[in-house]
Amino acid sequence: MPAKIHTADRMSGDNQCNWLIKPENRRCPNVVLLDGKCSRHLKQQCTVCFENVRSANSPMTKRLACGHAFHLKCILTWFQESDRCPVCREEQPKSDPLIQFKNNIEDNLRKKYKDVMNSYEDQIETLMAEGIRGRRGRPR
Ligand SMILES: [Zn+2]
Ligand SMILES: [Zn+2]
Ligand SMILES: [Zn+2]
Repeated sequence: MPAKIHTADRMSGDNQCNWLIKPENRRCPNVVLLDGKCSRHLKQQCTVCFENVRSANSPMTKRLACGHAFHLKCILTWFQESDRCPVCREEQPKSDPLIQFKNNIEDNLRKKYKDVMNSYEDQIETLMAEGIRGRRGRPR
């Protein structure tokens, strides 16, 4: 027991998770990530779906630059509305792969939308031209 306490004391510092391990009553030796806890002991709720984010290291988990974690698909949905963290509203860096991914999608969609709108405009112009011609051609 004393050996363990000694280990904990030696390792304690600002970078250590403050989660108390029972029954030894020593602090978790993992590196702190947010709110004084490591990714294992920090129970983060995905504020998009209100379910707990299980593991910060899972590929299905996205930890933002600010430290808040979300389910990957939840934060992708959120990013469609905003580039900011849903919890602390910190703007996410443009270099973030998810932000880049989202922006790429948006660029592609915008381009497609523009193409579709242009073709609609052409069609509408044609229709209107025909309509005008038709009206003009109609006998009074
Ligand atoms: Zn911990
Ligand atoms: Zn979620
Ligand atoms: Zn945040």
